[in-house]
Amino acid sequence: MNLLAIDLGGSHATCALLRDGAVRSSVRLDAAGFTGLRPLLPALRRTLEEIVATSGLALRDLQGIGFAFPGLVDSERHCVLSTNEKFRDAPSVDLRAWASEQLGVTLRLENDARAALLGERHAGAARGSDDVVMMTLGTGIGGSAMIGGALLRGRHHQAGVLGGHLPVRLAGRRCTCGNLGCAEAEASTWALPLQCADWPGFSESALADLAGPLNYAAVFAAAESGDRVATEVRDRSLAVWAAAAVGLVHAYDPDTLVLGGGVMGSAPAVLPYIERYVGRHAWTPWGRVRVRASELGDNAALVGLSILFQ
Ligand SMILES: [Zn+2]
Repeated sequence: MNLLAIDLGGSHATCALLRDGAVRSSVRLDAAGFTGLRPLLPALRRTLEEIVATSGLALRDLQGIGFAFPGLVDSERHCVLSTNEKFRDAPSVDLRAWASEQLGVTLRLENDARAALLGERHAGAARGSDDVVMMTLGTGIGGSAMIGGALLRGRHHQAGVLGGHLPVRLAGRRCTCGNLGCAEAEASTWALPLQCADWPGFSESALADLAGPLNYAAVFAAAESGDRVATEVRDRSLAVWAAAAVGLVHAYDPDTLVLGGGVMGSAPAVLPYIERYVGRHAWTPWGRVRVRASELGDNAALVGLSILFQ
């Protein structure tokens, strides 16, 4: 079975061809310059057509296209319901019509963290588990939950996917969702420059004078070098993610918690901290939640999209 797949993130879009549930080839597009989804569609189509052509296939050989979107989606009607800040025009874009008219294939849409959970459960860190929570730590914080083998979707299609918007601080920073003190407003890549700008002594930190972008890779590296502000920001971010993880365990009763997203490039620092904190603070008298790093990494959502066509 040949499928196309798109995983749209806050800063990039990955276009891929899958065969029998495995990624055969993929191309990563920079989406940072695009404020809307509609202006990005021509580049997505061109990239997909190139991938198909270089694979020696034709569009008629494809069973469909899966689309993972970072926002609230209706995965029965395959439309975007709501998005915060990025790709604001997405609810007005008819993605099914676009796929049908431009590529001649059927499109199926899912939230990106739900798709990542499906991928990890099918072929990654959550293999063999029916009760899973996924947290993706990246531009924002994605969440998704599976209970008894069923992906949680809910009456309004938003069950499980707002894990990054669990409040971890009263009267905290205003989040893009409208709430105050959400985990992702307190510790995510989009919030990091805002957090740092307010941090006492930031102007003397190595983080204030970076050659590259201010992201968590830079924070973890500077903390390793002994930078005081970087160490404090790192430790506070770990505490935020760990508190959110306990909240998700309490909400969804998983036996497996999978951590993914770009921040897990620093997994040796992140995973043991969250594992220890969940072990100490989650109320799980039945035993310990398995805390695992994503095994599929950037391919998790792409692989998960193939499950939508089974
Ligand atoms: Zn929020």
